[in-house]
Amino acid sequence: MVNKMEKIVRINLKTKEIQIETVSEPLEEKYIGGAGVSAALFTNEVSPKTDAFDENNLLIFSVGPFCGTAIPFGGRHFVTAKSPLTNILGESSAGGFLGRELRAAGYNHVIFEGKSQKPVYIFIKNDNIELKDASQLWGKGIHETESIIKKELNDDKLKIASIGPAGENLVRYASIINEGDHAAGRCGLGAVMGSKNLKAIVVKGTNKVEVINRDAVLNAAKSIQQLVKTSPLANIMKDSGTVIHMDNYVRFGDIPIKNYSESRWKGTKSLGYYAMQARGELKTTACFNCPVGCRGELQYEGNWVAWPEYETCAMLGANLYIDDLETLIKWNIVTNNLGIDTISLGSTLGCFLEAAEKNLLDIDLDTLGFEKDSENESGYKIWGSTEPIEKLIKMTANKEGIGKDLAEGVDRFREIHNLPERFDVTGKGLEVPAHEPRSSNLTALDYATSSRGAYHCYEPMHLSFGMNLKEEIGLTEKIDRFSEEDEVVDSVIKIQNSSEAYAASGGCIFGFWFINKITPWVEGLNAITGRDYTVDSWVNAGNNIFNLKRKYNLECGISSDDDTVGKRFFIPIEKGGTKGYTPPLDKFLPKYYQMRGWNEKGIPK
Ligand code: SF4
Repeated sequence: MVNKMEKIVRINLKTKEIQIETVSEPLEEKYIGGAGVSAALFTNEVSPKTDAFDENNLLIFSVGPFCGTAIPFGGRHFVTAKSPLTNILGESSAGGFLGRELRAAGYNHVIFEGKSQKPVYIFIKNDNIELKDASQLWGKGIHETESIIKKELNDDKLKIASIGPAGENLVRYASIINEGDHAAGRCGLGAVMGSKNLKAIVVKGTNKVEVINRDAVLNAAKSIQQLVKTSPLANIMKDSGTVIHMDNYVRFGDIPIKNYSESRWKGTKSLGYYAMQARGELKTTACFNCPVGCRGELQYEGNWVAWPEYETCAMLGANLYIDDLETLIKWNIVTNNLGIDTISLGSTLGCFLEAAEKNLLDIDLDTLGFEKDSENESGYKIWGSTEPIEKLIKMTANKEGIGKDLAEGVDRFREIHNLPERFDVTGKGLEVPAHEPRSSNLTALDYATSSRGAYHCYEPMHLSFGMNLKEEIGLTEKIDRFSEEDEVVDSVIKIQNSSEAYAASGGCIFGFWFINKITPWVEGLNAITGRDYTVDSWVNAGNNIFNLKRKYNLECGISSDDDTVGKRFFIPIEKGGTKGYTPPLDKFLPKYYQMRGWNEKGIPK
């Protein structure tokens, strides 16, 4: 007998009570499952007034219906909590195999309540769920944590998501890392884990993942695989991962350079896929049941290590004027081990460097190791200063000296140091990722309205390049990236709703970008769950999820004034691919609210 309902493990870290529950059918119908249901569980239980570090904040790990089944790209797990960076609903996700293990252990959601008195980790092995002492792990980096736990539990194959020093020290953009280098990076959910004294979640699942109609699941999986085979984007990413973006998109001004102040720079050439290829042997790797395998490894100091993803190369490289690939490879290892989001980190460091250059910080640059340079306004060489920046990264994770302020993220750093508005590079408090909102109106509107702040993974900008089109919902034509027509609003909403539905179904978002059809995903979901979504009702469920989060975030205190991107993005960059353009958000937003059925203040009716 297949149990259709998603199962929840609820763990109270304070009382050590562990309960098993099931998700109600109406909740699943309305919010699909996985991250969609987690958002509903979270918003039902956590008051919008709750501080992210309050023990009443919940931290929820979840997987959707695709996870662990034959449907490709279904290895993703999602994390939900109030974000310490944005003070609204925070979400992040990561690939690897941990999600699959959780599903095979029999669960779709693990809810952590309360705060443990001392550091603990949770070990889930099918029906056995134990809280274990993690005192000996506190202070350790991700890599050592994983190896100690595997040794302690005598199982080298365990899947582990943990926090490093950044999470323990409540750095507001600490990440949660699994299998050494898969990051649930955004929104600072690693710091929420740290605030609960929860060092790691360790999972082993050995059960078969049951589905309602196995043949229909296999048919849907086959259709998806066929479409992926002929997808140009899938083929590019199969060969060269996300980092190829560094090579291909600089001409469109999409890459943040020198704290989002320039639109082209010769240094980007040294940080892309071709630079990695020229450096030596590469190999690609894949998450659970992924037919593409966009991740890769390269040799570093005699070991195979993960190559830095595009966002890391852009934010810690181009955005800081670092063009040394060896440094980026090293920093990728360092930041994963510290458990810190490279997007928010690169953005906050960019803010620091620019402020230091303009003498706006009361700080001793000698002590930090910046070299004297009389030709610069500050008297120091600031940009591209590898050693001082590495020092700042470590100081941030450990909250030492100026690192204490950097650990707060851009908005709070600006406030502490009284920096002018032009330093504002966030959206609802979340640092803008490595896709320039001045380079695409689709990106800008998506960042301005995304439920978690400036978030990039739904990527409507792909529509300008003939990718991420969705035939069944009328997204069939390329859209000019600087279009100011209603088509921008219409397509951003359609991409947001369908991507929400897809995320709740449990897939890696790249899979959704790769193919232009929605039907096989919906057929796969129905075959797994026994439900009868149509494309329209599935996308509508995505709309339900989007509106649910919007209502919660409004109760947290955001308003239509927050539906924007940082002031910096309204200052044009004349040279390069942004072509002096700034996004006309004032023009788009009234239409956006209207098309979403919200009132003129952006409140869902
Ligand atoms: S496309 Fe990349 S990130 Fe997504 S599942 Fe495959 S390997 Fe993982």
